[in-house]
Amino acid sequence: MMAARTGSAYPATGLPRPDAGLAGCRAARPTALASAFAREQSRAASDRGFLVTSSPRLSVVWDERFHDYDFGPEHPFSERSRELAVRLLETVVPPADPGPIEWLRSVPPAERASLERFHRPEYLAKVQAASRARETVLLDAGDTPGFPGCYEAAARIVAGADRGLGTTLEAGRPAFHPAGGLHHAHPDRASGFCIFNDVAVAVSRAVDEHRKVAYLDIDAHHGDGVMYGFYESGRVLDIDFHQDGRTLFPGTGFPTECGRRDGAGLKVNVPLPPGAGDGALRPLFHRIVPTLLRSFRPDVIVVQHGVDGHVGDTLARLQYTPAAYADVDRTVLGLARELTRGRLLVTGGGGYRADSVSRVLARAGTILAQVDAPDDAAALPARWREEYRAALGATAPRTWGEHPRPAPSPWRREDEEKLVGVLESTLGVRLPRPS
Ligand SMILES: [Zn+2]
Repeated sequence: MMAARTGSAYPATGLPRPDAGLAGCRAARPTALASAFAREQSRAASDRGFLVTSSPRLSVVWDERFHDYDFGPEHPFSERSRELAVRLLETVVPPADPGPIEWLRSVPPAERASLERFHRPEYLAKVQAASRARETVLLDAGDTPGFPGCYEAAARIVAGADRGLGTTLEAGRPAFHPAGGLHHAHPDRASGFCIFNDVAVAVSRAVDEHRKVAYLDIDAHHGDGVMYGFYESGRVLDIDFHQDGRTLFPGTGFPTECGRRDGAGLKVNVPLPPGAGDGALRPLFHRIVPTLLRSFRPDVIVVQHGVDGHVGDTLARLQYTPAAYADVDRTVLGLARELTRGRLLVTGGGGYRADSVSRVLARAGTILAQVDAPDDAAALPARWREEYRAALGATAPRTWGEHPRPAPSPWRREDEEKLVGVLESTLGVRLPRPS
C-alpha cells in the first residue's frame, strides 16, 4: 500500500517525531527480547513440533466482490493484480476437494463491532457518509477518495483478514488473504489508499483474545497504521522492512521508533535506501526476524506481504527480485511451523505492476500450500497468460522469475553492520553475526 506522493510528511499521531530519541527503549524496559535472547540462542534448530498430516494445508480467502474496493481507472491501486495472482494460483494448483488449498469465497462485510476493534466510531460514520454520497468525498489529504459503496467494500476486505485469522487460529494451518494488507489506515483516518486497516483489525482481535502477535511487514512503505496502532502494546512485536521514510511516503519508520511503555523494544524498523535490493533485504531478514521471533514466542504470525519493493515497481525503488520474496516466504513458513504450530496469516499489500504482484503472490501461495513451488525459469501457463492479456491488454511475462534488471545497489556490507548496530543499541538485543 502507499500513496502517490513522496516526501517526509509526518502523520498527526501525536507521537514523538522520529528524531526525538524516545528516551531509549532500553531504559524504558529491560527488554524481554534481551533477557530471552541468550536462552533462545540455545534452542535447537530442530525444534519443529508441527507436522502437516491433513489436507488442506492452506486456506485462501478470495471473494470476487473484493473488486468493489475500486478508486477508479486512474488510481494506481487495483485489486485486479491480486485477482490475477489468484487466477495463477488456481491454474497451478487446481481447486479440488480434498486438495492442498481450501478456498473461502464468500465473505460478507465486517460487522461494525469488528471494525471498532481498531477504528473509532466517528471515523466509521464519516466513511459511511462518504459511501452514501453522490459526489466523491476525499477521506485523506488526496490519495484516498471515497466512492459509492466504499464502506462495504473496505469492510469486506477487513472481513477477509478476520476470516483468515480465525481460520488459522482454529485449524492451525496458514491463511492467505491476497486482497488485504491495507496497513496505512489509522483508527481515525484513511491514508495511502487504505480506508480501513484490515491487518490491524486482525491483530487487534488476536490481542483482544490474549494472544501474542508477531507482525512482519515487507511492503516498500512503512506500515504506520499498524505500528502506531500498537505502539504501546507488549503483545505485538512489529518488524517492518521498508524504503527509508526520508525518501518515501509515509515518512516514518526509523530505528529510533521502537515502541513505548509495554511496547518498548518491540517495534523494529528496518529502513533501506532506494536501490537497496536483495543484498540488503535477505541477510537482514535472516539476522533479525528468526532471532526476535524466537525470543518473543508469538502465538500467531501476521505478514503484510506488499510487493511494491519488487524491482521495476512504479512507486518505490527497493529492487527486490522474485527470489528474495520466495526466500522470505519459506523462512516465514518455517518459523510458523517452529513457533506457532502453523498459525500464520499472510495478506497482500502494495504493488503497482500487475506482472510482479500476480507472480510473487501466486508463488507465495504455492509455498504456503507446500506444493512444488515453480522455480524462476519455469514457464507460466499459457491459459493464464491469455487471461492476463484479456484483462490488461498487455503481454504477460513468460516465466515466473523474469524481471527488469536491477540498477547497481548502493548498499554495502558496512551499511548492514551500521544498521544492525543501531538496532542492537536501540532494542537492547544482540543479533547474530553475518553468516
Ligand atoms: Zn506500499
